[in-house]
Amino acid sequence: MKKIEYQCNICLKQRIMGLPENINFNVDTRGLMDIIDVHKCKGNKENAILLHVDSDLNVRTQIPVKKENDESSIPGLPLPSPQKVERSKIEIITDHLIRIRNIDYFQINDKIRNKIFVFDQTKKNDLDKIIIDDQFLEIQILTEKEVQKKQVKKWLTGIEEAYSKATYIDVKALELVLKFLDDKVTNEMNLSDKLALELIINSICSIPQTIKEDTEFGEIFNDLDTVESRNLASIIEKCKNNDKNNILLIYNELKYNFSFSEYIAILANLVEKGIINILTINFVDKK
Ligand SMILES: [Zn+2]
Repeated sequence: MKKIEYQCNICLKQRIMGLPENINFNVDTRGLMDIIDVHKCKGNKENAILLHVDSDLNVRTQIPVKKENDESSIPGLPLPSPQKVERSKIEIITDHLIRIRNIDYFQINDKIRNKIFVFDQTKKNDLDKIIIDDQFLEIQILTEKEVQKKQVKKWLTGIEEAYSKATYIDVKALELVLKFLDDKVTNEMNLSDKLALELIINSICSIPQTIKEDTEFGEIFNDLDTVESRNLASIIEKCKNNDKNNILLIYNELKYNFSFSEYIAILANLVEKGIINILTINFVDKK
């Protein structure tokens, strides 16, 4: 297994992340990837550390992320100063086969990673976008159809919550967020959708695995028609004893059966029912 290792400059803990061979994090134009490690740091206080990691998986820099309510700054360590560094703009490009019908503009301004992810099919300025903004993240959206502002904001908050917890962000996952949102934004967001958003945003770092025995699946299939049963069964089959394929790799093997939004909705349902557990690729203390 590939791994990323580093020693925290603040608490001196050795931290390690195992990365299955077929899961890849991509470097950006700087030749680096941004990975965030949250751990119990000095004084048993939770700290988030932004790591710049190169393509050989060496940690090149570590920057503590300062929280607003965190009065104690750490002397001698650089804090991110987003205003001084120009944010790089990354376009969210969707598969040409899939038309985005309900969303004209979507932007995530990531103030920690210094990146702006943008999807724009308006090419116009001064449009009345719906915006949510906090210390670390700003999200903007413009919907094609008239959708209630309150409803759209709920969706944006769902994205924000899932995004804020993400260890690694890949533009590919954001393309899928856009597709999912395009399918769903005209409806109210429910709890399943919220979980689905988390699964999509973390799809690179999430490995779905079945936790129930074969014999227990029967009752789940009983109340479903055959197409649904087949879809469910195909997902469960791919998740059996799975410890190396993430959500996206599994979808790539099943994509002719259903759309991504359908797949992720079924997966979210299986997680809610306690049939599938999500293993997350994350840093842990080195033993
Ligand atoms: Zn630490």
